[in-house]
Amino acid sequence: MSNFEQLFYTIEMKIEEDISLKQFNTFNIDAKARYFAEPSTVEEFQEILSEKKFKNIQKFVLGGGSNILFTNDFDGLLLKNNIKGIELLKEDADFYYVKAGAGEVWHDVVMYCVNKNYGGLENLSLIPGSVGAGPIQNIGAYGVELKDRLFELEALNIKEGKIHTFSNAACKFGYRDSVFKRELKGQYIITSVTYKLLKKPELNTRYGAIEKELEAMHVKNITIKDISQAVCNIRNSKLPNPAQIGNAGSFFKNPEVPRNTFNNLKMQFPDVVGYDVDEGRVKLAAGWLIEQCGWKGTTIGDAGVHKLQALVLVNYGNAKGNEILELSQKIIDSVKNKFGVSLEREVNIL
Ligand SMILES: Cc1cc2nc3c(=O)[nH]c(=O)nc-3n(C[C@H](O)[C@H](O)[C@H](O)COP(=O)(O)OP(=O)(O)OC[C@H]3O[C@@H](n4cnc5c(N)ncnc54)[C@H](O)[C@@H]3O)c2cc1C
Repeated sequence: MSNFEQLFYTIEMKIEEDISLKQFNTFNIDAKARYFAEPSTVEEFQEILSEKKFKNIQKFVLGGGSNILFTNDFDGLLLKNNIKGIELLKEDADFYYVKAGAGEVWHDVVMYCVNKNYGGLENLSLIPGSVGAGPIQNIGAYGVELKDRLFELEALNIKEGKIHTFSNAACKFGYRDSVFKRELKGQYIITSVTYKLLKKPELNTRYGAIEKELEAMHVKNITIKDISQAVCNIRNSKLPNPAQIGNAGSFFKNPEVPRNTFNNLKMQFPDVVGYDVDEGRVKLAAGWLIEQCGWKGTTIGDAGVHKLQALVLVNYGNAKGNEILELSQKIIDSVKNKFGVSLEREVNIL
């Protein structure tokens, strides 16, 4: 890049100061960021990260703000990722390789693939947020996780300003987990993700209410478009819409426990809900545990537990991030007391 081009980037990229983040997080928390910018190319990210003024202050990358709880003003540089673009990179006998910019809306990428009959992402329809955040917690829904379809990703090392490529294995994916939430936390900005999609789609209708919904839709020869539509219908009917009521989806992960713990719980609480993970472990439905502790539909000020989904914490108006965090701690404590099970937050706390 020439000096002139560098100057051009610097001038073009607006850096705002002390701005409210209310419109940038689905909890609608009115926290402030000291500095805020929306880079839309890798070069713009590199440019701003190399600026002297920002060298020694905290940095945080934001996508759609649908998995974050701001508990304080952010006294640093907040970068909203705006890198766009979706393209078919290559194909081989069995797969299409689709690359998307990290600032793309996730559901738009799903729709791009569904409309072209590239199989694999349809069960993940309508998950809010951006492409770049997907790998952070290995988004999942209706029996599919991103790790099943992610080929590789590119990410910018914040300190070095260089792009690294991570294979699927290098991301160390787990249940709502990846290397980016653990040993590499806060060190990389994901700039693009490449998905490996099936030329012959495998239809996954077993999970949740998909089959029932397909029946209600009177579908005969099921396609991935139908599955996507069924998932959208179910999600729209079940989950609170953040445009109407502030929330970040499931606030807690479903805890995994050893099978003998599950068996003991089952003796005490015959209705306890669990799903087999493998021979030795069972995943408990966190929503059921929370509901049994009497939290469903309760409010403390403007912070509350959704009246239909005990797993979803909500902001009914002007709740502060800390109030929602305190409510979540009370829930964690009461579930621990009643069932001896530790709930872990799924939402990122800042
Ligand atoms: C109604 C509702 C339903 C939901 N349903 C589901 C569901 O079914 N399954 C599921 O898995 N999740 C679900 N979620 C959670 C959320 O949609 C996902 O976690 C999503 O991937 C978050 O995307 P985002 O762009 O909004 O991330 P943000 O909230 O902006 O960021 C989340 C985290 O990712 C980091 N991050 C974001 N972009 C980047 C990047 N480019 N590089 C590095 N780090 C980055 C942030 O720093 C932050 O730590 C739901 C949320 C809502 C509100």
